[in-house]
Amino acid sequence: MSNITDLQQALRGRLIQQSDAGFDEARQVYNAMHDKRPALIIQAADTADVVASVNHARINGLDVAVRGGGHSVPGYGTCDGGLVIDLGLLNHVVVDPENRIVQAGGGCTLGGVDHATHAYGLAVPGGTVSSTGLGGLTLGGGMGHLSRSCGLSIDNLVGAEVVTANGDIVHCSEDNEPDLFWAIRGGGGNFGVVTSFAFVGHHVPSVFAGPTFFEPDAQVIRNYQRLVQEAPWELNAILAFAQAPPAPFVPEAWHLKPVIGILSCWSGDDDQDEDLPDMVASAGKVVGQAMWRMPYPQVNTFFDELLPRGLRHYWKASAAREFPEGAIAAHMEYGTKVPTIEGGNFIFSTDGACHQVDEQATAFANRSACFSSALSAIWHQPEDDQRNIQWVRDYYDALAPHSDPGAYINFMADDEDMDLDSNFGAKYLKLRELKAQYDPDNLFHHNQNIPPA
Ligand SMILES: Cc1cc2nc3c(=O)[nH]c(=O)nc-3n(C[C@H](O)[C@H](O)[C@H](O)COP(=O)(O)OP(=O)(O)OC[C@H]3O[C@@H](n4cnc5c(N)ncnc54)[C@H](O)[C@@H]3O)c2cc1C
Repeated sequence: MSNITDLQQALRGRLIQQSDAGFDEARQVYNAMHDKRPALIIQAADTADVVASVNHARINGLDVAVRGGGHSVPGYGTCDGGLVIDLGLLNHVVVDPENRIVQAGGGCTLGGVDHATHAYGLAVPGGTVSSTGLGGLTLGGGMGHLSRSCGLSIDNLVGAEVVTANGDIVHCSEDNEPDLFWAIRGGGGNFGVVTSFAFVGHHVPSVFAGPTFFEPDAQVIRNYQRLVQEAPWELNAILAFAQAPPAPFVPEAWHLKPVIGILSCWSGDDDQDEDLPDMVASAGKVVGQAMWRMPYPQVNTFFDELLPRGLRHYWKASAAREFPEGAIAAHMEYGTKVPTIEGGNFIFSTDGACHQVDEQATAFANRSACFSSALSAIWHQPEDDQRNIQWVRDYYDALAPHSDPGAYINFMADDEDMDLDSNFGAKYLKLRELKAQYDPDNLFHHNQNIPPA
């Protein structure tokens, strides 16, 4: 029997109990909707600490939550009364520039990875907000400013070190434990704790990027679709239904008014830089535009100030191959009613390089989608919960008849609509069988949970 004293002695990292100083800070996750009180928080310092924590939880029948960056909107990185394995100290990044291999700890933030890889002129395709955890983002798929040009995060993953539910340390890749490697690329945190990821980095020292805001008009959506379909893959473009920020390049009359935005990120050579602003602006009547050449990490900090830890979040996911007229009408109705400056509907373009990977090659669902929506309500006060949550639900319901059956698991709410069975489709049975092999008792279940077969 492993008791707390044994566990404490086995650790190099920190063990925090409810009565300890720092407990309140250590228990916080990014989304303030989740105010949980675990019995124990282990801030693991290395793989051995993760093994000790997993063994302790399993032997003592404790509920386990694994936390990477703590950004999960449904709050999977924490639990009440159980053991939280916080990977935040596993934030090493080691770059092999000759082979372009980037080893990154399971608790890295995207900003941490960008910082380290940029020194070598390399980039690992991640997301759009620097404080997001690499762990949860990658295990779900990982889409962001380089998806069209370089693929999803998982498409650039070449190996991982995983601590499984029985405390084994497994190295998986295409050649070693290929089934586990398949499952962790899109199957979420179901199969173990990833202590280290290995990616192939891309040579992207700088990008030409920035937002263009348009007057809300259905034609902008149609033109955005055409722009993405016709542009080279180096053009990554996120369509946003949001409020115009009170930024210097936006006329005051438009501040906090509903707009449609295109957040572009050109990762190709700089010989296109001059033409890009006009190319994007041609989608509609421009309210304001700011595009410039910047170091790649900067494009992942645009939202950082707007989205600190401690706001309230409720998100839903939707995906589609195109924008039929019914979807465009839904966007015009609900996309122009975004309740706050922080929230919005952010639609990632996931064709291009993402479509070069075979649907069956990874667990990631619905690879053929071209547009992946994060319907994101984000607000400050609990009294505004109902209004914000309802906005997302109404918007989601209006889009549903025009959407694909599946969507991106990292943007999903943990509620009645998260139907993983139809989301993963034919892959679901294989995922359930692999879950039974690697985690038969469902120790890792604070995630988009796949029950063991
Ligand atoms: C503000 C914001 C912006 C976002 N932007 C993007 C974006 O641009 N692109 C995108 O693809 N997604 C984005 N997301 C969604 C994001 O991918 C998910 O929220 C993801 O779960 C965050 O991972 P995390 O490690 O920070 O979360 P956590 O809450 O720590 O963990 C989430 C899940 O992953 C598991 N997990 C985390 N790390 C590990 C690990 N090392 N080993 C095993 N399991 C692990 C956890 O157990 C949990 O189930 C965003 C989310 C937010 C809140």
